[in-house]
Amino acid sequence: MKVKIGKIFVGEGAPISIQSMCNTKTVDIDGSIAQILQLEKHGCDIVRLSVPDVESSIAIAEIVKAVNIPVVADIHFDYKLAIASADAGVHKIRLNPGNIGNSEKVKYVADYLNERNIPIRIGVNGGSLEKKYKDMPIADSLCASAMGHVRLLEDCNFFNTIISVKSSNVRDNVDAYRKLKAMCDYPLHVGVTEAGVYTQGVIKSAIGIGSLLLDGIGDTIRVSLTDEPYKEVDTAKIILQSLGLGSVHVEVISCPTCARTDINVKDLANKVINLTKNIRKDVKIAVMGCIVNGPGEASHCDFGIAGGREKSVIFEKGVIVKTVPNEQLDAEIIRFIDTL
Ligand code: SF4
Repeated sequence: MKVKIGKIFVGEGAPISIQSMCNTKTVDIDGSIAQILQLEKHGCDIVRLSVPDVESSIAIAEIVKAVNIPVVADIHFDYKLAIASADAGVHKIRLNPGNIGNSEKVKYVADYLNERNIPIRIGVNGGSLEKKYKDMPIADSLCASAMGHVRLLEDCNFFNTIISVKSSNVRDNVDAYRKLKAMCDYPLHVGVTEAGVYTQGVIKSAIGIGSLLLDGIGDTIRVSLTDEPYKEVDTAKIILQSLGLGSVHVEVISCPTCARTDINVKDLANKVINLTKNIRKDVKIAVMGCIVNGPGEASHCDFGIAGGREKSVIFEKGVIVKTVPNEQLDAEIIRFIDTL
């Protein structure tokens, strides 16, 4: 199945999209807009904001108008906020229909969103499972809960659905998505919830999301970090790029450095990353720390730099094409990147 969120398609072979979530107060309209524009610059495809109250649903109407990517309203419990967010122009609602009360309310929301072609993401998290599932293995309980919510919508003739079944435990998370994939055809929003502060969160997300993507599971991804949201987007891009998925862009590899290193590889690699981050080309660039091993080890790259003490070399597919004094290296790198 394929779901349309504003201008972005999710599922059925559409490019895997990157999501993030604002950590601003939604009522801080200017702050939220500024953060979303920053996320857009980093390559975010879809952004979510919490809508905890009526004031937030009013604010989101202004935010939607000022940004360029689809906006998702995150709703808990109050179906009226889902309706208000739909009226505000959001492109998707994150909502678990079993949590909003009786079947009349579910039907009202389902009909309202169906008429406007606004999809719902059912997002089940390990920490907030209904009591009736507590005794089941966590992966089974996540799936049972999600499918329970799905059926409530299907009973209302609503099929415009995306599902997530997240746990903060990577194994449970992966198990749950594998089981869910076998149960339904709905697009899956994949992520590891509450993954933690930067380094831990990046590693848990890379393993959790990456292993699912390797299995062909996942239509849209969110890296969840206790950090600046743009870092979630940067991490998601690297996960996709590492697996040859997502939009095409330049990949920069660099060696770990060793006793042979003759140049500051870290600074040089960061410089090349900054110079190439907005170039949408399938090009691999190597930044290596010595002339002896660098060109050979990076011969699979389209081009690269191997640093020497006073002079460095530029190589293409492992073959040295130019020797450059280090003081001219920056200009030479820029010249090469301009030819991409
Ligand atoms: S490329 Fe050279 S400097 Fe870098 S790790 Fe390999 S041997 Fe060491």
